[in-house]
Amino acid sequence: METNTAQVAAMVKRYVEQLARLGVREFYIPREALVVKKNSKAERLKALEDKLRNCERCPLCEGRTQVIFGDGNPEADLVFVGEAPGRDEDIQGKPFVGRAGQLLTKMINAMQLKREDVYICNVIKCRPPENRDPLPQEIAACESFLIQQLDIIQPKVIVALGRFAVQSLLRDSTGITRLRGNWRDYHGIPLMPTFHPSYLLRNPAGKRPVWQDLQEVMKKLGIPVPGENGKSSKES
Ligand code: SF4
Repeated sequence: METNTAQVAAMVKRYVEQLARLGVREFYIPREALVVKKNSKAERLKALEDKLRNCERCPLCEGRTQVIFGDGNPEADLVFVGEAPGRDEDIQGKPFVGRAGQLLTKMINAMQLKREDVYICNVIKCRPPENRDPLPQEIAACESFLIQQLDIIQPKVIVALGRFAVQSLLRDSTGITRLRGNWRDYHGIPLMPTFHPSYLLRNPAGKRPVWQDLQEVMKKLGIPVPGENGKSSKES
């Protein structure tokens, strides 16, 4: 069972009072005994998700079935950030579960990982009507939740999927075609911008550059790249 600061203070007080009653005036408390264990990442994410469940910060709350907070491993080294939930996500309550989600799962598997190994979320947590692009004011209202999620997880690498995720995280209005494939920095965390799986469904030719981007991510995470013999894919 975890112990919070107030409980530790009460325990120490009782201990000191007992010693005083026994006539002990000097005593030693090991430093480790005073270390307060922080809540786990999973608990902190759950607390944030609970806070968000009834969010009405922007008009997207009116049309949603539910808030789509995020899914995956709270201890993940790798976080994928997309744009916003679509119809399938709104119904099922998880990010990236439609056709684009299935493609993302294949991309993750190609990286020698499983979905349970990574964490997946979106900039916007409620489905925009008719799957339209999120409005700037909706992004502004919602992105603090994403910032908190990333702050809790502290991944080693972030992959930003598509223009909205990249522009929201980097505050950079450069087009995704120019941004993709180049490492950027998000508060000290390496961030790889790449195309959104929905774009790849419409433009299969984009899969090749995305795979190059994901190979760079694998190298950053120390995952062996299939067929790689010590040379960077960008060099070959
Ligand atoms: S999109 Fe974000 S800010 Fe808007 S209602 Fe949903 S959770 Fe709240």
